Amino acid sequence: MGCATALALEARGADVVLLERSVPGAEASSAAAGILGAQVESREGSALLETFVRARADYAGWAAELRERTGLDIGYRVSGMLRVAFTEEEANDVGKTAAWQSAAGLRAESLDDGQARAIEPMLAPVARAAYFPDEAQVDPRALLRALVAGIARSRVVVRSGVVVQRLAETDGRCRGVVLDGETLEADATVLAAGSWSSLVPGVPDAVPRVVPVRGQIVQLDERPPRVRTMVKTAAGYVVPRGDGRVVCGSTMEHAGYASAVTAGGVRAILDAAIRAVPSLAGAELGATWSSFRPYAGEETPWLVGASPLPGLFLATGHHRNGILLAKTTADRVTAAILG
Ligand SMILES: Cc1cc2nc3c(=O)[nH]c(=O)nc-3n(C[C@H](O)[C@H](O)[C@H](O)COP(=O)(O)OP(=O)(O)OC[C@H]3O[C@@H](n4cnc5c(N)ncnc54)[C@H](O)[C@@H]3O)c2cc1C
Repeated sequence: MGCATALALEARGADVVLLERSVPGAEASSAAAGILGAQVESREGSALLETFVRARADYAGWAAELRERTGLDIGYRVSGMLRVAFTEEEANDVGKTAAWQSAAGLRAESLDDGQARAIEPMLAPVARAAYFPDEAQVDPRALLRALVAGIARSRVVVRSGVVVQRLAETDGRCRGVVLDGETLEADATVLAAGSWSSLVPGVPDAVPRVVPVRGQIVQLDERPPRVRTMVKTAAGYVVPRGDGRVVCGSTMEHAGYASAVTAGGVRAILDAAIRAVPSLAGAELGATWSSFRPYAGEETPWLVGASPLPGLFLATGHHRNGILLAKTTADRVTAAILG
């Protein structure tokens, strides 16, 4: 959120300083699976459905813009997604999802076992599947590399290894931030500290609390690449990058800031992945990692734009969809600050 927002503000002529206690992209944004899951992440009647769908559509242009600017590819691919059901109850649910999404004008098909396996031949036998051909993905690490390269070519000043100690507030207005032994004044301050956003002293109590939800990931390496469609089950997901890497996820754990990858987490992820795509049992174990989704509660899908404290703007609380909503957030925060 910090990188994307800094670039968007700079493009509109603002002088921007990006503050990061580690290096840009050190946390959740590099750890994500990169699913642009506008449809699989939406429930019927969701107020954000249109925003999600537009955010997904806007990625094509953003990927091209970042490539032109930096020469780097962010791995944007419209690889489609199958949400599969193994039980009758799940089958009912995926059938209903496909139906309401079609009625809402989105591309979604309810498929039987044969139809689903025609789309993804590596799929296990299923009771039913919903197919969302427009769901897409990016490679979050590649996205962060491109954002950092874009920033390096911009006027944004990056200060890495700098911890924001607190917001600087006088006369009921946020006037910047206090660093170690230094106050940095600013007309506008953007809170983009992910799962740590509520730990920055000075954030008003009226801003919903952001807490970490740990997610673990297992990357498998499949040579040659065989799975081609993203697959989601009730227990997890499988995201083939197209080059042999298959990202499997993920856990949803309230574990504080403990970043461990656990035996139970890896087992649950592998069980779900291999159940959906049995051939993955033969893939090589590539890497494991974990990070924290910034979660502000079920009623608060994100915290974006002006805050109750004048001068302070929010770009946080995106939980499971921060990669999908990165550019949208950057544009909205920029509009909130610059008009
Ligand atoms: C396992 C996993 C899978 C995910 N999969 C997806 C997915 O498929 N699709 C999707 O859209 N989203 C996904 N997400 C969610 C997405 O990753 C997050 O919503 C998004 O990356 C949050 O971005 P952010 O910039 O708010 O937080 P972060 O990327 O965590 O960045 C916050 C930054 O603030 C810095 N910071 C914190 N406190 C301070 C301070 N006091 N001073 C200075 N710097 C500070 C941190 O060092 C960090 O770099 C996933 C998340 C996880 C963990």
